[in-house]
Amino acid sequence: AAQEGFDAEEVESELAAAGHGPLPVLAVVGRPNVGKSTLVNRIIGRREAVVEDRPGVTRDRVTYEAEWAGRRFKVVDTGGWEQDVLGIDASVAAQAEYAIDAADAVVFVVDATVGATDTDEAVVKLLRRAGKPVVLCANKVDGPSGEADAAMLWSLGLGEPFPISALHGRGTGDMLDEVLKALPDAPAQTFGQTVGGPRRVALIGRPNVGKSSLLNKVAGEERVVVNELAGTTRDPVDELIELGGKTWKFVDTAGIRKRVHLQEGADYYASLRTAAAVEKAEVAVVLIDASENISVQDQRIITMAVEAGRAMVIAYNKWDNLDEERRYYLEREIETELQQVAWAPRVNVSARTGRHMEKLVPAIETALAGWETRVPTGRLNAFLGELVAAHPHPIRGGKQPRILFGTQAGTKPPRFVLFASGFLEAGYRRFVERRLREEFGFEGTPIHISVRVRE
Ligand code: GDP
Ligand code: GDP
Repeated sequence: AAQEGFDAEEVESELAAAGHGPLPVLAVVGRPNVGKSTLVNRIIGRREAVVEDRPGVTRDRVTYEAEWAGRRFKVVDTGGWEQDVLGIDASVAAQAEYAIDAADAVVFVVDATVGATDTDEAVVKLLRRAGKPVVLCANKVDGPSGEADAAMLWSLGLGEPFPISALHGRGTGDMLDEVLKALPDAPAQTFGQTVGGPRRVALIGRPNVGKSSLLNKVAGEERVVVNELAGTTRDPVDELIELGGKTWKFVDTAGIRKRVHLQEGADYYASLRTAAAVEKAEVAVVLIDASENISVQDQRIITMAVEAGRAMVIAYNKWDNLDEERRYYLEREIETELQQVAWAPRVNVSARTGRHMEKLVPAIETALAGWETRVPTGRLNAFLGELVAAHPHPIRGGKQPRILFGTQAGTKPPRFVLFASGFLEAGYRRFVERRLREEFGFEGTPIHISVRVRE
């Protein structure tokens, strides 16, 4: 009955908007200063553009959500990447490689006022090898007089160059139309391989937490011979590992095993690797060095996985290295610093001794189950009805907003749309989330709640 008065079409479109699975990923690559960040800002419609003239400004977030012509996708901004670690050429190539790896399609930005450089040519080679759809942007064509410069870029052999001005928006609409044609509806890496295949696990954590040790420990004797498994993709960066009687795909393990000796900027590369791995995975196992204080970097990695909407397990490693005192403080740190992910299953392991390795798989399975939980609409609304009756929203300005009806619009992770008679305060939303978790579990998964106010 609560549903009465709702426009079916409105509900439908709301569900479509909220209930997407993983979105296809677009990477924006190119040399420093060609205008990548400016373009990304334009694509995501961000007004207060975070563009700086200084090249190599690092940023934390690299992935944004965008929408064009009613379709949603993710944009990987490679704008602020560290430039001077390996020299410009190598770092641009590395940058492009990481981004292309995680992307379904690529926008390659060239500065039309400069023309194609050797570095641009190097990126073209990478793009050819990757075989992903590419849209070539000739940027900084601020007016008709620049069109001729843009046409010169046919020479790159990537097809038609789209003359655009990221700064002023000229030509970006046509370019984005082309991007949409290039993007698949669902990301190939995420859904294409899902059906019946091994579940995809990303083992992430800051440098030196023990990722490589853990991977070696679990993969040690049980490495699966890839060829034995029919129909599995042979992506060299992924590793099939048998654990707990099942085969799991540990994604992007090349980044874990390879000991890249980068000093400055290494963290940033590590964080890009992490982002790429998380994009490909269904569940992230976040490794934390329990013998050290929980750091901002640990928090960032966790946030990255949460924002990507992946299932999550937290593994506290180096447990063999903890004394009484550290244990005491660790518990308190977890409570204060990781409260926002209190829902994540926790295992205390030691990659060195093998302690509690057998608990890893059950934790991963719990998290994946939470991630895939679907609450039938009837049950959800019975629950919401009781919740609203027992704990109504506080009265604000003489009005009392009410939740009228709700539905779970999607899974992986669970997404809910609540229809309300007025704006629901953040505190009340958090309360609803907490009660949803108490009632239905959702262990190991972030959940999204969007509220639609019926005018
Ligand atoms: P990135 O290093 O590739 O991310 O480049 P940025 O987005 O930071 O841009 C580098 C510089 O080029 C900035 O000063 C921008 O304002 C400028 N720029 C970016 N796009 C355009 C454009 O379309 N036209 C002009 N004239 N300048 C631009
Ligand atoms: P990664 O950078 O995250 O891949 O970390 P590594 O696997 O290279 O480990 C970093 C250091 O921590 C190495 O010296 C490992 O031997 C050590 N280490 C890893 N796991 C454990 C553990 O469970 N206990 C102890 N005591 N040391 C560990």
